[in-house]
Amino acid sequence: MAQNTTPLFNTFSRAPLRFERGEGVWLYTESGEKYLDFGGGVAVTSCGHSHPHLVDALKSQAEKVWHLSNLYEVPGQERLAERLTEATFADKVFFTNSGAEALECAIKTARRYHYSKGHPEKFHIITFEGAFHGRTIATIAAGGQEKYLEGFGPKAPGFDQVPFGDMEALKAAITDATAALLIEPIQGEGGIRVVEKEFLKQLRAICDEKGLLLILDEVQSGVGRTGKFFAHEWAGVTPDIMAIAKGIGGGFPFGACLATEEAASGMTAGVHGTTYGGNPLAMAVGNAVLDLVLADEFLQNVRDVALVFRQGLAALKDRFPDVIEDIRGDGLMLGIKAVKPSSELLFAMRAEHILGVPAGDNVIRLLPPLTITADEAREGLKRIEQAAEALSAKAAPSAAQA
Ligand SMILES: *Cc1c(COP(=O)(O)O)cnc(C)c1O
Repeated sequence: MAQNTTPLFNTFSRAPLRFERGEGVWLYTESGEKYLDFGGGVAVTSCGHSHPHLVDALKSQAEKVWHLSNLYEVPGQERLAERLTEATFADKVFFTNSGAEALECAIKTARRYHYSKGHPEKFHIITFEGAFHGRTIATIAAGGQEKYLEGFGPKAPGFDQVPFGDMEALKAAITDATAALLIEPIQGEGGIRVVEKEFLKQLRAICDEKGLLLILDEVQSGVGRTGKFFAHEWAGVTPDIMAIAKGIGGGFPFGACLATEEAASGMTAGVHGTTYGGNPLAMAVGNAVLDLVLADEFLQNVRDVALVFRQGLAALKDRFPDVIEDIRGDGLMLGIKAVKPSSELLFAMRAEHILGVPAGDNVIRLLPPLTITADEAREGLKRIEQAAEALSAKAAPSAAQA
């Protein structure tokens, strides 16, 4: 159906691909064509498509009860929260339906913390240029990107932004009204920009010194994506509050806000809520995802395959300097910075039946399922190589003409 006659909002420019089935790292179109899914529905399909353990968990919960609301106790929530708090810095968990809502909860938790300590004026949150925290009114203000703010009325107050990685600017931006710092350990949509471990350590130290809360947005980098359960573990620091989503649901839409007991102390009965958050279906899938991700070999596999993949991509960069400018990222959260418009590389990859995800800074994100094997990574590398070759060859005749 043509773009202008679709009854859907025109907010997305979609690829003309119609997938009807997925298995592991593969997606199959209605006409039976096979694609290697290195986009993972934007870092969501952490356990691959149709993982039997997740399918079983969802089916068996579907036969019991779908929805209860938070008027009642939900055993799946208690179990998942216990497991999340046991495996992380956190003592408390609030379940949401999406990443943006997890961030909304994180922002409210930080503001409410200072309010409950008698400091209602401390509601400002400092964020970093290139950030992405979601598409709600508050989270577009937090992200601070003009392209997402334009036309939606006044920017929600209380978000101050500083340049990426600029410690001096950050220190200068802190005032008596500052409540928290909010950062993605690796900017995803911003173009796979990794925050230096040392920088994260300094953020932790500044928060401790000034009585600020450190909020991490691990919606994309979390749940095994970088080869640790959460990306901040590589830096050896912990946040006070953390937003997660994407990978924790493995394709079932849900998220969570995690916090220490102290940071969550302002979130008392009735101050926040959700109808669907922590729904039994979501909790069944989330617990099944953790069965896999927290098993011994899972994160080791991510690290092993990431090494193969990373080395292969580095070799492609050396071979095609006219196509690939840079390879960045950590674990299986990788980005190819293209020389020419990255959309050309994405199209060339699609022609080789491999999917990636566009990002800022002229980058293509590669976010395959974390269950990927080394052989599947090599198959992906082969297809990316063919795509690069096609673009490189295309450049040759015009160079010869010039
Ligand atoms: C995707 C994403 C979000 C928003 O999550 P939604 O589920 O789309 O609301 C927030 N932060 C980061 C880092 C993300 O990658």
